Amino acid sequence: MPYMNIKSLSLNAFEQWLVNNSVKPYRATQIFKWIYKHQTDDFQAMTDISLSLRHKLAEHFIISSIIPAHVQTSTDGSKKYAFRLYDDHYVESVMIPERNHYTLCISSQVGCAQGCAFCLTAKQGFSRNLTHDEIVAQVQMVMRDLEGNNLPLKNIVLMGMGEPLANYQNVVKAIDILINSTYGFQFSTRKVTLSTCGIVPNMVKFSQDSPVQLAVSLNATDNQTRDMLMPINRTYPIEQLLSTCRNYPLRPGRRITIEYVLIKHINDGIKHAKKLCELLRGVYSKINLIPYNPHLKSKFERPDDSSIETFQNILIKNNYTAIIRQSKGSDISAACGQLSSEM
Ligand code: SAH
Repeated sequence: MPYMNIKSLSLNAFEQWLVNNSVKPYRATQIFKWIYKHQTDDFQAMTDISLSLRHKLAEHFIISSIIPAHVQTSTDGSKKYAFRLYDDHYVESVMIPERNHYTLCISSQVGCAQGCAFCLTAKQGFSRNLTHDEIVAQVQMVMRDLEGNNLPLKNIVLMGMGEPLANYQNVVKAIDILINSTYGFQFSTRKVTLSTCGIVPNMVKFSQDSPVQLAVSLNATDNQTRDMLMPINRTYPIEQLLSTCRNYPLRPGRRITIEYVLIKHINDGIKHAKKLCELLRGVYSKINLIPYNPHLKSKFERPDDSSIETFQNILIKNNYTAIIRQSKGSDISAACGQLSSEM
């Protein structure tokens, strides 16, 4: 008989399965705590579950796991994990040490279909969506690796491989698990951020379905440039994207993060900075400036430090919060836009 992956079931679905098998439904929460909180991958370890039920579960289910196949540590302390999935695909996650906590950048797809001109993940094309379980498992595996460390893992960013809003159901479900104590995690909704290239209808849906933070990769200030850098712009141009941001329902004190990759001679000029100020009027936002991280598969270049600073200063003078994000881990190809699962 084929096994089912227990992690592919919601709590409700698993309760139903138990009821159908003449088991009291409250056992579902007990078993899910073992799986998600204690990260148990063996039914036999569930000591408060009767032997006969453990046996029955093992007959029907497996507890899937992703396998860390390569781990690399950067000179700046960040760590890149390559995980092997059950079908021999790979995805990467990057753990970044900050002053008093860790941030983990996770992937949502194997490869990516968006085709952004500057991104290395795009060059490998799209293989498949991750299941919600494979998304959550990246967090579990890294937490396991960090055990015994004194810094807590606080921030989760969906900014790794893939476009999270193109894998909508699985991503929303995974986030729900990460912020919900029923499953043994309890990440703050302020500390989980989903980054999108701008799939407008799914942004609107997401605002209703999930309470976590939103980041939008804008990367250009006119449609011609954005069309060239990010093909999604041909479907949802800048005006539509930013009007969605303007109307995005935000909880008090929250802002949308606008990401802007600075690429030499493409979008890094004084006129671009000024135009960005105009465009973002009325968008409750903070701006992350990401100097372009070069890789072998594209000809784009990082601007020099002085133009990056000039760009930032124009935003600040216009009362925007603008932070230069120095990507970590570039020596191990773990920086923004350098993730790839082509081994
Ligand atoms: N698909 C999502 C999340 C993945 S990319 C999105 O588009 O937002 C995460 C961020 O890295 C995006 O803001 C993207 O614009 C940026 N990025 C991609 N390649 C980069 C590179 N080579 N250098 C710097 N930033 C890059």
